[in-house]
Amino acid sequence: MRYGRLRDMSMKTLETLTFDNAALRDLPVDTSSQNVPRQVKNACFSRVDPTPLSSPKTVVYSSSAMRLLNLPQSELDRKEFPSYLCGSKLIPGAEYAAHCYCGHQFGYFSGQLGDGATMYVGEVVNNELERWEIQFKGAGKTPFSRTADGRKVLRSSLREFLCSEAMFHLGVPTTRAVSCVVSTDTVVRDVLYDGHPINEKCTVILRIAPTFIRFGSFEIFKSIDRLTGRHGPSVGKTDILKQLLRYTKTRFYPDVAGDVEEEDTVVAMYREIMERTARLAAHWQTVGFCHGVLNTDNMSILGLTIDYGPYGFMETFDPGFICNGSDKGGRYSYEAQPAICKWNVKKLGEMFALEVSQEKLDQVLQSWEQVFEIEYNKLMRRKLGLLTEGSDDAELISKLFATMRETHSDFTTTFLLLQSFDLLEDFKSDEAVNQMLTNCLSIEEVTKTLKPTYSKADCAALLQIINQFSLASGNEAGFNPLARYGIEVDSVLRDHQIHQDLESFGKMTADDRDKQCREKWRDWLQLYKDRVQVECDKTNDPNYRQTRIDLQRKSNPVVVPRNHILQRAIDRAELGDYSLARRLLEVFEQPFEKPAEQWLAERDVGDKGACTVT
Ligand code: AMP
Ligand code: MG
Repeated sequence: MRYGRLRDMSMKTLETLTFDNAALRDLPVDTSSQNVPRQVKNACFSRVDPTPLSSPKTVVYSSSAMRLLNLPQSELDRKEFPSYLCGSKLIPGAEYAAHCYCGHQFGYFSGQLGDGATMYVGEVVNNELERWEIQFKGAGKTPFSRTADGRKVLRSSLREFLCSEAMFHLGVPTTRAVSCVVSTDTVVRDVLYDGHPINEKCTVILRIAPTFIRFGSFEIFKSIDRLTGRHGPSVGKTDILKQLLRYTKTRFYPDVAGDVEEEDTVVAMYREIMERTARLAAHWQTVGFCHGVLNTDNMSILGLTIDYGPYGFMETFDPGFICNGSDKGGRYSYEAQPAICKWNVKKLGEMFALEVSQEKLDQVLQSWEQVFEIEYNKLMRRKLGLLTEGSDDAELISKLFATMRETHSDFTTTFLLLQSFDLLEDFKSDEAVNQMLTNCLSIEEVTKTLKPTYSKADCAALLQIINQFSLASGNEAGFNPLARYGIEVDSVLRDHQIHQDLESFGKMTADDRDKQCREKWRDWLQLYKDRVQVECDKTNDPNYRQTRIDLQRKSNPVVVPRNHILQRAIDRAELGDYSLARRLLEVFEQPFEKPAEQWLAERDVGDKGACTVT
């Protein structure tokens, strides 16, 4: 008798995954399955088949995300693996569907958007009885694709795959990515939007999350919008709104007490969503992550980072950092993110208000700042290795960011440098200040980096308009006379500052700059040292210094997905070499791993703050 290879029975194959597609049971599914661009009324999902791709090949996969589905690495050796993971071969138990949602894009209601390039594949219940919704991104057209092709290409898929996994390992709430599969089939893309289209290879990622329900999922009930004249496809369908609220509460907020029929239960769930979103925004700010497209359709109902597009990790600290080339007005700049998230939560509240009291929901939103600040200060204290709360911490933190801005310091490197010396000892000898100076940009570098959107003359004219109209409106907070032109007041103020900086740098020598940075860092380090000294004197911990350093080490990543690092991996992958993408995933899986001293010694000085990965 021959024995087969012993198999770990807790592991699954793609054919034996346990599916339980609750969303399609609990929520209304479109009665039509016509896969043509159309309004999908009175439904949350529309069934659709993925469009097969030729010769799919696996570019990169995440073993840790595969484990969540109980898929072993040996699945990868099977020739069917890439075909299943791009939709060319149907996974037994999967039910493919596109989700209907709406959204406010750049402040304006767009009406129906929906899964135009993504697709629900089903819900896998793993051995731990966790439920993971799995989704394709790039598997072809759906009724929501409008005039686009429902495809994604290698560069955008790799960016989402690598960053969502990196974010998970950085401890930031996020959707995950299991695999990235590339085909020989191509689609045409105009990468630089300059009239030079090229053929790019179609790629599909498989991503997972407990759910991909978004704020925009609730906007399908929106009545006619005053500004755009658009409305949601299921306007007036309060029975479906009730179903969606019940589904969200039962499946994802079981700990919120009460039945969803009761007003207070819905309000309590809204509070939980608000708090998760505020904490998510705090996470982003403390790692220097900029999402880039914070439309209501890109806001997860679970407070996860979702839909990675033109995101960017900040390098040289600049509060007005904009990572999305089409966001000319800076609506989604780094510093705007918390307020924009709050605005999005408010928009969600307007949909919940179709069922419950708007007043009660508004009251919930009043705690936004407090929730955000508590989380933000907590995360920042960890980054600074502070073990206790201090009454002046908020000021210490804001002065740190002001110093980083004035000295044009790299975001990630600043925190690594702050853990590279003994603050209490090295401050006396200026060693600490000297370390921080290695991370400041020189005058030439600053001049190259500072790129105003508006010329000096335009900026002055815009400022004049803002000032005149603000005065006329009685200095109403948030009033923006330039809104109709897509110009944010903050972006004009930022450019004004840039022009001032450029002017003062023009008059500076290298020695002046060195002196300026030295003074700024010495001033801030003095505050930091005093704060640490007080804590040190109060503590009974004999290993106080080590405890602080250990905390800093686990709170400050050595590597983050910097754009130029990702771009190197993408360039190589486009030539068929996936080794750097795979290596990068390994690095991102252990972002805190390397001792900072070792990292600093290896630092590629020509590439300020960049971690060299070869
Ligand atoms: P995003 O800005 O990526 O969040 O997408 C906004 C809307 O455009 C959503 O409805 C997407 O499904 C849709 N969309 C984005 N890319 C594509 C594509 N390649 N094909 C079809 N629809 C798309
Ligand atoms: Mg989106």
